[in-house]
Amino acid sequence: MRPLRLLSRGFAALIVLLSLALAPPALAAPKGPVILISVDGFRADYLDRGVSPVLSALAGSGVRAAMRPSFPSITFPNHYTLVTGLRPDHHGIVDNAMDDPAIPPGHFSLATASVTDHRWWDDAEPLWVTADRQGLKTATMFWPGSEAEIHGLRPDYWTKFNQAMPATARVDQVLAWLDLPAATRPGFITLYFDKVDHEGHMAGPDSPEVNAAVADTDAAIGRLVEGLKARKLFDRVNLIVVADHGMAAISSDRVVYLDDAADLTGVKVVTLGPTAGLEVTAAAPPDTTAKLLAPQAHAQCWRKAEIPAEYHYGTHRRVPPVFCLAETGWMISTHDRMAKTKVFMKGAHGYRVDAPEMAALFIAHGPAFRSGKRLATFDNVDVYGVTAKVLGVTPRANDGSPKTFKPVLTDTK
Ligand SMILES: [Zn+2]
Repeated sequence: MRPLRLLSRGFAALIVLLSLALAPPALAAPKGPVILISVDGFRADYLDRGVSPVLSALAGSGVRAAMRPSFPSITFPNHYTLVTGLRPDHHGIVDNAMDDPAIPPGHFSLATASVTDHRWWDDAEPLWVTADRQGLKTATMFWPGSEAEIHGLRPDYWTKFNQAMPATARVDQVLAWLDLPAATRPGFITLYFDKVDHEGHMAGPDSPEVNAAVADTDAAIGRLVEGLKARKLFDRVNLIVVADHGMAAISSDRVVYLDDAADLTGVKVVTLGPTAGLEVTAAAPPDTTAKLLAPQAHAQCWRKAEIPAEYHYGTHRRVPPVFCLAETGWMISTHDRMAKTKVFMKGAHGYRVDAPEMAALFIAHGPAFRSGKRLATFDNVDVYGVTAKVLGVTPRANDGSPKTFKPVLTDTK
C-alpha cells in the first residue's frame, strides 16, 4: 500500500504541477474602452492656435506628435491605414475614387453605394473586425469602411454616414454605447468629425472659419471628456485622437493644366486635384504618355511602376497606369474642368506626406500612455499597432513599427 500511496501522492503532485504549467495566465483586469477619434483635416499646427483647450489639455497630460499621413494624403486611404496599419498600396483603398474592372460595375467613389461593397475593402481587415474575432464588442460612430461587411463582419454598432448629424449628437451616441450593460458594451469605439476638413477646403487653412470649426470640434470632445468623467470612466479610457491629413492653401492662380502638356483625347481621367490618375487608352495619340511624363512646371507624372519608392505607392492594381502629383499648394486640372468649376476651393490635401502642411494631429491620453510626452514625427501606419496593443488585441501583420510608441507607453513590455 505504502509505495502505491507514495506513487499516487507523487502523481497528484505531478498533476498539480502540470495543471499549473498548462493553465492559462490569470485574466488581466478588464481594460477600459479605447476610443479612436478622427478629426478630419486637423493639421498638426492647428493645436497651437489657442482655440482648442480640451485637446491641448489632453495633449499636455498625454502624448502629442505631428504625424505623417500615408500617400496620397487623402481621406479614405488614410482612414483605412489608421485601422489596418497598411499603406494604401497594400490595403487597396488607394484613392477616394478608383476603378477596378474586377469589381463590377467597376467604380468606387465617396457618397455612393460602392463604399458599402466589401470587395473594395477586403484586401485588409480593419481593427474592429479583428477585435470582434478576439471577443470584443465594437462600435463605429462613422469611419470610412464601417458601412461594409468586411470579411463577413461589421462593427456590432455602426451607422450610415450622415454629415448633417451634429458633433454633439455623435458624442452622445458614443456615451450611450458606454452606458450599455457590460455584456453588450463596446470595448473599441471610433468617432469621426468632419467640420474642420470641410472649412479647411472651403475657407482655407488660415481662415477664421477653420479656427471656429476647431473650437467647435474641441467643445464636442470636451462634452465627451465630461461624459466620461460623469461615468467615472475618464481615468480608465484610452483616447487616441488623430487626423487623416493636414491642409494646404490653394489658389486658382496655381493650376497645372494637363491639357497644356498633352492632347487628352482618349485619356480617361480617374482623378484630378493635388494628384491625377490617368489611363491613356488606345484611342489616344501615340505620343500622349510621353508628353505627360515629360518634365512639367509644378507637377510630375510617372508610370505607376516608376513612382519613387519613398511614396510607397504604385504596386496596387487600382493605382491608374499614369499618376501625377502637383507641387504642394498647386492643383492639377484641365481647361474644361476649370471652366465648369463654380467655386474654386481654398484648401486641399493629397500632396507629398513630408510637406509640413500635410502633417496630421496625433494625441493619445489614458492609462496606457505616459503624461506630457512629445513624440518625433512618425508615420501613421504606426497607429494601428499601438491601438491594438492598448485594446489587448493581437494585431495582424502590418506596415507599422512597434518601436515608435515604446518611449511613451506606461506598460513597456
Ligand atoms: Zn480627410
